Amino acid sequence: MKKLKNKTLQAFLDNLVEALKDENENRGWDNKNEENKESIFDIPFLVSSLWQAFREKLDTYTDFIKCLNHTFYQIHIVKSDDNYYGICKAIVTFYDSKETKDFQYEIDFLYNQRDWGYCQCTPDMKDYREDKHCCGHGCDWWAPSFEIRKSYRINIQSWDGDEHDYWDFEDEFYLSDKELAEKKENEDREREIWELKSRIEADQKRLAELENK
Ligand SMILES: [Zn+2]
Ligand SMILES: [Zn+2]
Repeated sequence: MKKLKNKTLQAFLDNLVEALKDENENRGWDNKNEENKESIFDIPFLVSSLWQAFREKLDTYTDFIKCLNHTFYQIHIVKSDDNYYGICKAIVTFYDSKETKDFQYEIDFLYNQRDWGYCQCTPDMKDYREDKHCCGHGCDWWAPSFEIRKSYRINIQSWDGDEHDYWDFEDEFYLSDKELAEKKENEDREREIWELKSRIEADQKRLAELENK
C-alpha cells in the first residue's frame, strides 16, 4: 500500500490494518470449521476503497483528521448490521475527556455488486491473470466499498421502575394493540401445545420401553 501524504490518515490506516489483523487472529483460533474460515477478513480488499478516499477526498475528512489528531481513539471491528452487502464494521470510538461526550465514527465495509457480465476470459486475452482466471475488465465483480458515519450519544437510559412496573407497561401496551396481543396469545398457545405433544410423545416412548421389557 502506497503511503498517504496525510500522516494522520496514514497512521489511522495502519491502526485499522492492525485491528483487522488482530480480529483475524482471534477468528483463527476457532478456525476448525469452514464457516469461520470464510469469515477471515481480506484486509487489502477492505481498506482499498478507504485508502482511495483518503487520497482523493481530503476535504471530506477535515473533521475526521481533526478528531484523530486531538482525541484518543480506539478501533473495534464488529459484525455488519443486517445488510446483504455488509462485510464488517470498524467502530472508531473517540474518548473526549474534556466534554465527557464520547462519539464514534463508523466505517461500514460493504460489497458493491457490479454485474458487468459473466466471465468468459481466456488465457490469450490481454491482461489475463493466470492466478485470477480472468482479465479483470468488465466481468462480474463484487467490488470493495464503504460508508462512513459520525454519531454522538445523546442519552443513556434504563427503565425507571422495577420489574412489576414494567409489567404494567407491558399490559397497557397489549391493551392498546389488540392485534399484537392476539398474535402473542396464539403463539404462546401453539408453543404450549407443541411442548405438551413432545412431552407426551417422550412419555409414551418410555412407557412402551417399560412395557416391552
Ligand atoms: Zn473475466
Ligand atoms: Zn418477587
